Amino acid sequence: MEKIPVVQDFSPSFRPDGKFHVRLTVGRFQNLRRLTSWPLIALYFGLVWVQYDGQPWLLFSFAQHRIILFGNALSWHELPLLAGLLIAGASLLFFLAVAWGRVWCGFACPQSIWTWLFIRIEDLSEGNAVKRARQAGQPLRGMRLVRRLAKHALWILLALATAATFTGYFVPIREIVAESLQFQLPVSVTGWLVIMAGITYINAGLVREKICLHACPYSRFQSVMFDDDTRTVSYDARRGEPRANLRKASANRGDCVDCGLCVQVCPVGIDIRDGLQAACIDCGACIDACDSVMEKVDRPQGLIRFASETELQGNKTRFLRLRLTGYGTVMLCAFASVLAGFIDTADLLVEIRRDRGAMFRQVDQNTVCNVYLVKVERVNEAIRRVDVSISGGGQYKLFGPRHIDLTDDGPSWLPYRVCSQNLERPKTELTFNFASESFSAEKKTTFLARSW
Ligand code: SF4
Ligand code: SF4
Repeated sequence: MEKIPVVQDFSPSFRPDGKFHVRLTVGRFQNLRRLTSWPLIALYFGLVWVQYDGQPWLLFSFAQHRIILFGNALSWHELPLLAGLLIAGASLLFFLAVAWGRVWCGFACPQSIWTWLFIRIEDLSEGNAVKRARQAGQPLRGMRLVRRLAKHALWILLALATAATFTGYFVPIREIVAESLQFQLPVSVTGWLVIMAGITYINAGLVREKICLHACPYSRFQSVMFDDDTRTVSYDARRGEPRANLRKASANRGDCVDCGLCVQVCPVGIDIRDGLQAACIDCGACIDACDSVMEKVDRPQGLIRFASETELQGNKTRFLRLRLTGYGTVMLCAFASVLAGFIDTADLLVEIRRDRGAMFRQVDQNTVCNVYLVKVERVNEAIRRVDVSISGGGQYKLFGPRHIDLTDDGPSWLPYRVCSQNLERPKTELTFNFASESFSAEKKTTFLARSW
């Protein structure tokens, strides 16, 4: 029988210097985690550089009052769409939580992904968890000091790259890089970069799992979302207990050989054998570690596995249930609404206000004029000029600029006067038309002929 890969010197606590050293493991869930996290990391660092038609593909520009989402320009008026997107994302999260627990936290949450990146850097620069734990408490000098400094330097570099990329979603990344190289980065952007880099360094390098446990509300309300059929990372106590070291011969022993490996690989430092805990992020590291042990002691894998309470009690898990169907329905409706909203976004923002000073002006016995202020603001930069006209079959006359040249200097407010000799009805509907080569829009208002 093969030897179980356990570090007995530091087991079970693995915390000789008061902090636990996360031991990296391999296995199918770690592969799955790589499959999800590396594309997400690539998207995060890559998307800010993508351009479409000469402008960023994704940008939340405060300066231009624009949101550019997947190449489509939206105005701030479209912010509810982002709120809708957040609601849709939250309902997806709830759906996942009811079905499979905190898989989002373990496999896709930025806090976990960046923590793993920082742990990998720690592993590369200071050695693996076993070595780090063994050296804990020893004086920091020579190569150990160099390695420690190298680790922090790499952490700072990664934190700065993360912060610059994050800022690149609000200020075009090419501007940030060009201005940084010329030492002309505005103080506000520099300050933001430093704060973001500091937060990343502290969160992923120093505080790590404490964020998940104390700052993330999800760990608190997950217990409300779970039911007996939710599959989470669980220890099969019926199979594993009574646990006993392999060296102890016992007829009445469970499959757990009490090696402590599941605890050593846990990024939040818990023992899953104690049952479901708020700190567990469902990352599957303990499953991989335990599976490798089970293989070596020639027992079936899955002593720790994604299992529901129902399954652990020997019954069959129900996947489809009312709560899951409810969250699924809300999620689909939310995504459908957001999609419909995106299709219906405006390329040109138009607002018409009546001159409050004079509701209508009697020019002569047969003619009445109304004065309007018209605001035109382009969202789509391709629209450079719009023609303005009114509908009404010749009964109205429009006075004011018939062509508006649009710039990026913000909205234009222009005065217009509409006159009519049709005074039979005190109030009629009036339509302003705005047209460019590729776009047309209309805005309705009212024409007042007299008091009513
Ligand atoms: S108990 Fe297992 S699944 Fe939960 S956080 Fe620790 S290693 Fe990950
Ligand atoms: S559950 Fe598995 S990994 Fe954890 S102590 Fe028991 S045998 Fe070892």
